[in-house]
Amino acid sequence: MALMKVEGLRKVYADGTVGLEGIDFTVEAGEFIAVIGPSGAGKSTLLRCLNRMVEPTEGSIAFQGDETIGAKGRKLRRIRREMSMIFQGFNLVERVSVLTNVLHGRLGYMSSWKGALGLFAKSDIAEARRLLARVGLQEQTHKRADELSGGQQQRVGIARALAQQPKLILADEPIASLDPAASETVMSSLHRFCSEDGIACLCNLHQVDMAKKYASRIIGIHKGRKVFDGTPEELTDEM
Ligand code: ADP
Ligand code: ADP
Repeated sequence: MALMKVEGLRKVYADGTVGLEGIDFTVEAGEFIAVIGPSGAGKSTLLRCLNRMVEPTEGSIAFQGDETIGAKGRKLRRIRREMSMIFQGFNLVERVSVLTNVLHGRLGYMSSWKGALGLFAKSDIAEARRLLARVGLQEQTHKRADELSGGQQQRVGIARALAQQPKLILADEPIASLDPAASETVMSSLHRFCSEDGIACLCNLHQVDMAKKYASRIIGIHKGRKVFDGTPEELTDEM
C-alpha cells in the first residue's frame, strides 16, 4: 500500500480561482519528492489540501489507506501530526526558546501553554535536545528563536517537524527566504533526516537545480495541473 494516494484532487477558491485541477499521484513511504512550478502554479494549494489547511473541492486523499477528506477531530489531529509542515517563513514562536519551539512539535501546538509553566516531561525535553543536536543547534537550545539566523531558524523548523515523528513532511518553499549557503544546509539536512528516519517528503521548490540535486522524483505543476511526474533525469529543459 502506498503511503498516500491522491486522486482527482480539485480546488476552486471562493472567488472562483482554480487552484488545482485533476491532480493524481501516489507517494511511497520514504520517497523524497520535489514539487516544482512557477509562482501561482498551485504548489502551496496542493500541500495545504493534503493536510487540510485548505478544504479540497473534490477528490480523494488516502493517507495510510484512510480517506482524509472529511476527517475531523481526533482523526484530523492524528493526520496533521503524521504530516509535519515546514514553512517558507519558518513559523516559529519568536519570543520563546528554540527548545520550546521543538517541544511544540513534540506535543502539538495545543499544549504549548504548558511550556510557559515548565510542565514538559523530562523525556520530551531530552528528545527535543537530541533533535536540536542532530540539526547542529545544541549551542542555541536556550536562545530565543528570533535571535537565530534564517538558516538556523529553518533547522529549528526541521527539528520541530521531526519531533512530531511524522510519516510525511510537507515543506512549502523551505529555502525561498534563505541565501544560497543556508539553502544548501537546509536542503541537505532535510534530505538526510528524512532518509535516516524513513520519512517521505513533498518539498515545494521553485529552484529546479535544487529539485534535481535533492529529489529522487519531481512533480511539475502548471496552472493547477500536473504536467510532469518522473525522475530528475527525465526532466527536460523546457519544463
Ligand atoms: P504557488 O504555491 O505555486 O505559488 P498557490 O497555490 O499559492 O501557487 O496559488 C495557486 C493559485 O490559487 C493562484 O492563482 C493563487 O492566486 C490562487 N490562490 C491561492 N490562495 C488563494 C485564496 N485564498 N483565494 C483565492 N485564490 C487563491
Ligand atoms: P506565497 O506564494 O508565498 O504562498 P502568496 O502571496 O501567493 O504567497 O499568498 C499569500 C496568502 O494569500 C496565502 O494565504 C494565499 O492563500 C492567499 N492568496 C493568494 N492568492 C490569493 C488570491 N487571489 N485571493 C485571495 N487570497 C490569495
